[in-house]
Amino acid sequence: MTHTPRKRFGQNFLHDHNIIYNILSSLNTKPNQHWVEIGPGMGALTEPLLALGLQLEVVELDRDLVVYLKDKFKHHTQLQIHSADALKFDFPSLVKYDEKLRIIGNLPYNISTPLMFHLLDNAACIEDMHFMLQKEVVDRICAAPGSKKYGRLSVMMQYYCATEHLFDVPPESFDPAPKVMSAIVRLIPHQQPPVAVNNIKMLNRVVVQAFSQRRKTLRNSLKKLIEEDAIVALGIDPNLRAEVISLADFARLSNLLREKDLTEEDAELDLNGN
Ligand code: SAH
Repeated sequence: MTHTPRKRFGQNFLHDHNIIYNILSSLNTKPNQHWVEIGPGMGALTEPLLALGLQLEVVELDRDLVVYLKDKFKHHTQLQIHSADALKFDFPSLVKYDEKLRIIGNLPYNISTPLMFHLLDNAACIEDMHFMLQKEVVDRICAAPGSKKYGRLSVMMQYYCATEHLFDVPPESFDPAPKVMSAIVRLIPHQQPPVAVNNIKMLNRVVVQAFSQRRKTLRNSLKKLIEEDAIVALGIDPNLRAEVISLADFARLSNLLREKDLTEEDAELDLNGN
């Protein structure tokens, strides 16, 4: 079957065998692990994963590709194909015993951040995640305080997981070639939160507010939420800008907030954008 890549499903199929090999080599797979691939496409990663003898579930939105995959892998009894939208998929339902899921995906760029947060809502059942993303997004996920790329996505992702940029992947590795550089990121959900946060939505509120104008000092950007004296009382200099504030300090600031400080937008932790 020939399949014309569909833009609306963010289809960029991997065809560079060296890259596929490098991805597989970085996974440190073991027999009996329970793997989930999001967006298998035409099976560029699915096939080598199956060759390792892993138990694998795939979640694919494009029904034509589901038909294609069912035929292509009809002899593989350790593969389960789910025709579904990963953004709405009930990942914990895949857990059979008390094993944790290992997740992998060359993700459509337009859904990558909401999908990661959908998965992190269920972080307790996830061992780790390896994703192909836009390099720009990987850089932001992994950025440390003081870096220009450090922002809301860095703080929120690092609250949930240990993050690691593994390697870059050039546009020519895909068909069709995307306009931008890609990269592989490894995300390992923390067993215990690295910092004490009373309410994750409040952490998000403080971070959104602090980075809404990156060039402003905390004194100004947080004016509506937190008194300057309260910032000083935490031992945090109110003259600093958000881009140098650590996750630990954002956590302490967020613990000063109250329910009434949350807005309706905070109900959804949609971290698209910065
Ligand atoms: N893993 C393949 C395909 C990557 S392209 C490869 O590396 O070659 C991205 C894939 O994600 C496509 O197959 C696309 O149909 C699928 N996809 C897009 N949106 C999705 C969603 N919401 N849920 C599940 N799969 C999705």
